[in-house]
Amino acid sequence: MAMLEVENVNAYYGNIHALKDLSLEVDRGEIVSLIGGNGAGKSTTLRTISGLLRPRQGAVRLNGEALTRLKPHEIVIKGVVQVPEGRRIFGRLTVTENLEMGAFACKDQQLNKKNMGRVFQLFPRLEERREQVAGTLSGGEQQMLAMGRALMANPTVLLLDEPSMGLAPVLVDSIFDTIGQLHVGGTTILLVEQNARMALQVAGRGYVLQTGAVVLRDSAEALRKNETVRKAYMGES
Ligand code: ATP
Repeated sequence: MAMLEVENVNAYYGNIHALKDLSLEVDRGEIVSLIGGNGAGKSTTLRTISGLLRPRQGAVRLNGEALTRLKPHEIVIKGVVQVPEGRRIFGRLTVTENLEMGAFACKDQQLNKKNMGRVFQLFPRLEERREQVAGTLSGGEQQMLAMGRALMANPTVLLLDEPSMGLAPVLVDSIFDTIGQLHVGGTTILLVEQNARMALQVAGRGYVLQTGAVVLRDSAEALRKNETVRKAYMGES
C-alpha cells in the first residue's frame, strides 16, 4: 500500500470540472512531482489532498486511512502538510512566531524546540532573522519560512506547491537543494512545479497533468527523456 493514495478523484469549482478521475500514489520516502501547464489542476490536486477542496467523488488516503471527510486542520494533525503557492506566511508576525504557528497542533514544547532547531539548521538565514517581521523578508526567505513552518508540524507527507515560483535562479537551486536534503532525511514529498526540469531532477517519479487528468506517469528519468515532456514542459524545440 502506498503511503498517500489519491483514487479516482473528481473535484469541481462550481461547474468547472477541475480534476477528472485523477489517481496518484506516493510511497514512503519518495519525491513525486506533478508537472503540467497553467490551469492543469496541480494546485487543485494539492488542495484536494489537504482538505481545502472537497472532492465530489473519489478518495484520498494516508496509510490506508480516508482523509476525504476530515477538516484541513485534522489532515495536518494526521501529518499531511501543505506549503501553499505564494508562501502565505503571516506578514506581520516575526519569523519565530510564524514557525510557532506551524506547530499549532503540538503541545509538546520539547519537540517544538527540537523542530525549530532543525528548521534553523536547514535554513540558517531564518535563524539570523528570527526576530524580523516576516513581511519584510525577501521572496526566497519567505519560501524558506513557509517550508520551515510546514516542517514544524512534523509532516509525514509534505505537499509543496511551486516552491521555485518567482525566485532568482540561485535561490531556486538552494530551495531544490533543501528539498533534496529533506528527502535524504526521509521526508515524503509531493511536489508541484512549473519548473519541470528541476522537478524531474529531484524526484524519483512524476505525473503529467493536462486539463485535470493524468496523461502520463513514469519514472522521473523516463519523463526527462520523453520528447513530449521535453517540448511541452522543458522549453525544448
Ligand atoms: P497554475 O500553475 O496556473 O497554478 P494549476 O495546474 O495549479 O495551474 P489549478 O490552479 O489547479 O491549476 O487550476 C485548475 C483549474 O481550476 C483551472 O481551470 C482554474 O481556472 C480552475 N480554478 C482554480 N481555482 C479556482 C477557483 N478558486 N475558482 C474557480 N476555478 C478555479
